[in-house]
Amino acid sequence: MTQEFDELVSHAHETRVVVVGGGVAGLVAALECAKIGMRVTVLEGSSRLGGAIRSAEVAGLRLDTGAESYATRGGTVRALIDELGLGDKVTTPNAGGAWLVGIPGVGAAPLPAGGVLGIPPNPWAADVRRIIGWGGAWRAYLDRLRPPLTIGHEHSLGRLVRTRMGRKVLDRLVSPVTTGVYSARPDDIDADVAAPGLNNALTRTGSLSGAVTQMRGASGARPGSAIEGLAGGMSTLVDALASRLSDLGATVTTDAPVSAVTRDGDVWTVSAAIAGVDTEADLVIMAAPEDTARGLLSGTVPSLAREPGPSPVVEVVTLVLDAPALSSAPRGSGTLTVPGSYTAKALTHSTAKWSWVAEAASGHHVVRVSFGAQGEPPATAELDDARAAALALDEASAMLGVPLAAEALRGAVRERYAQAQPASALGRAVEVEAVRRAVSATPGLAVVGAWLAGAGLAQVVPDAQREADRIRRAALFDGDAASDAEPEETDAPAQ
Ligand SMILES: Cc1cc2nc3c(=O)[nH]c(=O)nc-3n(C[C@H](O)[C@H](O)[C@H](O)COP(=O)(O)OP(=O)(O)OC[C@H]3O[C@@H](n4cnc5c(N)ncnc54)[C@H](O)[C@@H]3O)c2cc1C
Repeated sequence: MTQEFDELVSHAHETRVVVVGGGVAGLVAALECAKIGMRVTVLEGSSRLGGAIRSAEVAGLRLDTGAESYATRGGTVRALIDELGLGDKVTTPNAGGAWLVGIPGVGAAPLPAGGVLGIPPNPWAADVRRIIGWGGAWRAYLDRLRPPLTIGHEHSLGRLVRTRMGRKVLDRLVSPVTTGVYSARPDDIDADVAAPGLNNALTRTGSLSGAVTQMRGASGARPGSAIEGLAGGMSTLVDALASRLSDLGATVTTDAPVSAVTRDGDVWTVSAAIAGVDTEADLVIMAAPEDTARGLLSGTVPSLAREPGPSPVVEVVTLVLDAPALSSAPRGSGTLTVPGSYTAKALTHSTAKWSWVAEAASGHHVVRVSFGAQGEPPATAELDDARAAALALDEASAMLGVPLAAEALRGAVRERYAQAQPASALGRAVEVEAVRRAVSATPGLAVVGAWLAGAGLAQVVPDAQREADRIRRAALFDGDAASDAEPEETDAPAQ
């Protein structure tokens, strides 16, 4: 027994793992392998770790400019945070939810409570009727009177909502949520993947609003609505992952864009052209975004050689403002927009949402304005930084209903992101399953990241842990296990 154990330990210590991409998926997968003594190298193409978890200094404040929170669902992200010793930094957003702006004939109103993907359980509720009017409420109520829905009846969220509850519910309540959260139109979203359990609830209740009511009753809250953050920002999670990896003896190299991944027998070679690195590996964990991952792996796994559809590109402009009029948090924690009404798609009033940001900002305000969605390039894309900041300031002023003069601006930073295709996009689940199958049939290979797991840390982190576990088990216990592995399930995205 002891001898077997010693052999296992020494086998782990001899196993060389290269992780391509130092976003959260890559760092989490690297940690799982480093923990058991494997020799881990992370190659990150850019000059910083973290990928879409990014921070920047704006007017002397260190602020999240990408992901700023995580969904508590499943508890995996929180468990990782605790494991890394960051538990005392966990914080919850202030009460006072988001608002909706750009509502025709209404302007701005608080986002109604209790919906699923914006679908209201009760169209007559005052906060819903305020947005869709009496006509919209009557039309939505027809959902209860029409013949019952059956399972599998309609996969497109857009068509489902339009036919059951009408255009006002679709345009004014559901579209702002899918555009703001998934950067996608409701017509392109698979209702069953985006809201697991909706289809079953439809069958049981026979109506859409009935299904939403039942789902709310079952969970006690809007699915996926509970979030937490970290005082100091989500990038402290990336710092802690990097520091734990270094303690465990892993090598983490930035400015090392991988340009080729090849395999000869059981040995992989990973080449990072600019850094001049050519690293041999027994296991490769691909943690780069979809287009790069497919490109690098297509020689070894031919079925991955496919141009992915265009990714939604978003730009987030973070502004620090000296604007006392914002102290009353005029639109709660931020706003979603009715598509077509504003140039920006969403705004987060970070100082109203997070106490740690308000304390750090000592009287100033921080707002983040997001531009761009699927098929709609960000309006800031062609502007220089100063003009992008000016446009963001104008949009913030209109969305928050408060005049904001140019002199209020204390600092601004703009970041650009290519988002993963939403896991809930129609047809996506089938594609993801095909990729999983091809990858798990390739010994020594794992692929992680939001393009397979779905966007959001609550999807990406557990998926990266599962994939790393699958590949390290296969390496240690049974060289062939990789080809027998079942494909992972696809999680629905949180937000
Ligand atoms: C603006 C924005 C806000 C978000 N807000 C939230 C939020 O509040 N809560 C939440 O849960 N989720 C949020 N998300 C989603 C979440 O951030 C992502 O799903 C998650 O961070 C994706 O991690 P990843 O490791 O899969 O990919 P990425 O973060 O994209 O990491 C991929 C890494 O691979 C590197 N790479 C690319 N090519 C190469 C190469 N050739 N060689 C080596 N490295 C390479 C990249 O530089 C990058 O570092 C947000 C996303 C965005 C864009």
